[in-house]
Amino acid sequence: MQATFPLGRPAGVRVGAHWSVLLIMALLAELLAQSLLPEAVPGQSALVYWATGIAGAVVFLASLLAHELSHALVARRRGVAVDRITLWLFGGSTEMSGELPSPGTAFAVAVAGPLASLLAGGAFLGLGLLLPAAVPAVVVVALTWLGWTNLVLAVFNLLPGAPLDGGRVLQAIIWKLTGDKRRAQAAAARSGSVLGLLLAGAGLVELLWFGSFAGLWLVGIGWFLGFSARAEFAAGPAREVLGRIRLGQVMTPHPVTAPGWFTVQAFVEQAAACRQRTFPVVSFDGRPVGVVSLAALARVPEQARTSTRVEDVCVKPPLCLVAGPDVPLTTVLSRTGARPGQDLVLVVENGVLAGVVSPGDIARTLELAVLGTEARRPTV
Ligand SMILES: [Zn+2]
Repeated sequence: MQATFPLGRPAGVRVGAHWSVLLIMALLAELLAQSLLPEAVPGQSALVYWATGIAGAVVFLASLLAHELSHALVARRRGVAVDRITLWLFGGSTEMSGELPSPGTAFAVAVAGPLASLLAGGAFLGLGLLLPAAVPAVVVVALTWLGWTNLVLAVFNLLPGAPLDGGRVLQAIIWKLTGDKRRAQAAAARSGSVLGLLLAGAGLVELLWFGSFAGLWLVGIGWFLGFSARAEFAAGPAREVLGRIRLGQVMTPHPVTAPGWFTVQAFVEQAAACRQRTFPVVSFDGRPVGVVSLAALARVPEQARTSTRVEDVCVKPPLCLVAGPDVPLTTVLSRTGARPGQDLVLVVENGVLAGVVSPGDIARTLELAVLGTEARRPTV
């Protein structure tokens, strides 16, 4: 999601908010200050209504954050890497870069959020019941509103369709029952599509039949849900294809190599005739030594280029990745950096260099996967 502003790092998790959060906050503050609070406790000044309304909206945002943080912390505790939390128009999302390893973990991560919302809802309602004598009546109304809103949030999120939490719970259960993660994913996405359609339909009825503009909100949420579910459904097969691909299938075989024993000067003259910017470096007996880029060669001072060997300036393992042809592409995907000279994976078979996997090869593989097909090992 673009255009987010940072909100700090509670418990070490990066949190950002999309600008649309400001819109929802303004709408909630207005709802409290202009209608809910004056109707429940008449006769107060506008300042009191607005101050309570804005505070209520801010606390609501905090409880939304608590919901997402619960997902994030449970994920991290179970060893799944969490990238960040983004708050936006329809709530929040927790982005995880790690794969959920088991149905049990998937279930725990999914229910953590709604559980936090349920607890927050119960706590606010409890405070609303216990505090009336001690605090102004408008605060009690705001607390009660916060309580019910959090309970609604918990229940709504438990609706059984991805990408809602309920959809993730459903996915974890199907995964557990069938042992098939992809099938569970597809089922949860499909039920998210149906749910989105139902919500949008209900919103339309509310809008057209009853003339209620709250229906528009439901149409928006339904549309968003259906849209995300379809996107997830489309990504499913691509992910499945990717999971099967081995380095040997996607590598460029017999790449132009840099002889490690050459001086930088001697190799530069040879490199000028190639279209490559990065080269695998091999030793005299054909063993792969590392990776060198034109940029790295350019950093060697001119007077040293006749005395420095290519092998001395190349990036060596573990900084450069070396793997066998049967290693799945997905295991190196997350480890290839964008840094020049380190973005070439050396594919080694029987001790000699069989090929290289470049960012171009990876892009081609991803595009073929989206097209529903698989890169094949080139025939030479
Ligand atoms: Zn959630």
